[in-house]
Amino acid sequence: MSRYTYRPPLDEMRFVIEQVLGAPARWAAMPAFAELDAETAAEVLAQAGRFTADVLQPLNAPGDRQGCRIEGGRVKTPDGFPAAWRAFVDGGWPALACDPAWGGQGLPQLLNTAVGEMINACNHAWNMYAGILHGAYATVKAHGSDELKARYLPRLASGEWLSAMALTEPQSGSDLGLVRTRAEPRPDGTLAVSGSKVFISGGDHDLTDNIVHLVLCRLQDPSNPAPPGTRGLSLVLVPAVLPDGTRNAMAADGLEHKMGIHGSATCAMRYEAATGWLVGEPHRGLPAMFVMMNAARVATAVQGLGHLEMAAQNAARYAAERVQFGGPIAARPAVRRTLDSLDAVAAGLRVVIYRAALRLDEADHHPYAGCRAAAAAEVSLLTPVLKAFATRQGFQGASDALQVWGGYGYMADYGIEQTLRDARIAMIYEGTNEIQAIDLVQRKLLGGAGPAFEALLDDLARDAGDSDAARALHEQLAQARGAVAALREAAAADPVAPLRAADDLLAGCGHLLLAWAWAAIERAAAPDDAARHALVAQGLRLVLPQAAVHWARARAALATA
Ligand SMILES: Cc1cc2nc3c(=O)[nH]c(=O)nc-3n(C[C@H](O)[C@H](O)[C@H](O)COP(=O)(O)OP(=O)(O)OC[C@H]3O[C@@H](n4cnc5c(N)ncnc54)[C@H](O)[C@@H]3O)c2cc1C
Repeated sequence: MSRYTYRPPLDEMRFVIEQVLGAPARWAAMPAFAELDAETAAEVLAQAGRFTADVLQPLNAPGDRQGCRIEGGRVKTPDGFPAAWRAFVDGGWPALACDPAWGGQGLPQLLNTAVGEMINACNHAWNMYAGILHGAYATVKAHGSDELKARYLPRLASGEWLSAMALTEPQSGSDLGLVRTRAEPRPDGTLAVSGSKVFISGGDHDLTDNIVHLVLCRLQDPSNPAPPGTRGLSLVLVPAVLPDGTRNAMAADGLEHKMGIHGSATCAMRYEAATGWLVGEPHRGLPAMFVMMNAARVATAVQGLGHLEMAAQNAARYAAERVQFGGPIAARPAVRRTLDSLDAVAAGLRVVIYRAALRLDEADHHPYAGCRAAAAAEVSLLTPVLKAFATRQGFQGASDALQVWGGYGYMADYGIEQTLRDARIAMIYEGTNEIQAIDLVQRKLLGGAGPAFEALLDDLARDAGDSDAARALHEQLAQARGAVAALREAAAADPVAPLRAADDLLAGCGHLLLAWAWAAIERAAAPDDAARHALVAQGLRLVLPQAAVHWARARAALATA
């Protein structure tokens, strides 16, 4: 019977990058990537595919069984995790999309995203260490002092050091305004950070000598008192090892025992007057942290895609081999329907997420300021949709896929059970999916992102072409416009109405993006590419009808205002 394995979907990635998004031509318009061609990009992905399938995937199930432990006061990760990290560093992978000025390779986020998809598909737990690095790098780059940048950016970019993001406290989860950790100014200009954090991924581990914590605190400065709530939070960089080589006054008090990602060390952290340095302005920690969180949220969407792809591939292999009633179960309509839905959603999500990554590159590197601003506005608008929609699809898809194994899927030995458990967390952390929906509706659609929303819909409409998929896309665009108009009207009458409709509005927008992706695949596929045209038809037939439920429920929630 087939083993749970990974085939890097390199042909699909190339199709999306080159044919659907036309990325090489868009790279050519950006001086930072003008030298990059499609062949080089494909070779980078092929190498990453070999590393993820050969090194990371074999560590996934053993890492899940072994989990992390504390020995001598320090966290140990599963066997093989540190060596895999060293191999990753030696291959230059952490630096892929980092700025050459800080030792990075300066390649596009789009490639980094595709690499991230493969890593997450193969070993989500291991990627918890690698994934946070980019958010910390981006935050220090955007908000750190020159001294902090010089000290930390090259070592983060190279992967010599890793990072942790320390927001959550027992009383302060979604509501960060309740954070109590304190930062007391010292005469030498450093800060003494004291407090307890919970659920800190990679708070301690044995992959790197140093771990750079970005800690959300309340600054205790009598000359500049912190306002209450989220407007009084500051961001402080607290390294586990200080510049003089001594260990900082911080420790992992314990490890959480959890449902999935057992290879990821989820730490309860204690800071006891630990030395730190302010990142950004006093009391402006949350905006600074948002640089990290937005990067992390798009990366979390990629986790959903990775899980979905892994589940879809393996379900298809298993179904082709498992014989019941005289033939492979893959031929049974009920199983076929599941497999086809998984393939259609995975292919659509890949287009949607890669498009966002390409727009992220344009936001950072396009030569025209207007194009940079438009791309940044689009990514900001889409970030909550991508995070919540893709992670739900990842978990839901893993659950649907598990059904294909029948009773074997429920057993620990067949792989899909771990994928399902691992996929679940992505709906919770980096801002729960409900918080993403509120962000979309309150801060974006009813906030300043109205023009970005209109621009996005116009842009998606331009891509439609003329096909069944295009007609379906136009229908979704009309639904989205109507729902957002109803949202604005209802919000004016009852400020709670948008919150009732938020999750369905987000899911509706997610389906709209899938409809666009399938129309774009339809347009890009060669006329004789029967497999891709069939995949689009499956998406329209099996998945898109669900959109009507979300739009209808959103309208009903708004109408009962
Ligand atoms: C494995 C794991 C790893 C993690 N890694 C990190 C990390 O590295 N760093 C870090 O700082 N944190 C981390 N977290 C914490 C994570 O970000 C929080 O668990 C998450 O933000 C939710 O907070 P909470 O658990 O306190 O839930 P709560 O905030 O108590 O929420 C409980 C439920 O209520 C809902 N809810 C809350 N408020 C609202 C609202 N206004 N409207 C609608 N629904 C609402 C939520 O959506 C959720 O469903 C991690 C958590 C886990 C489990």
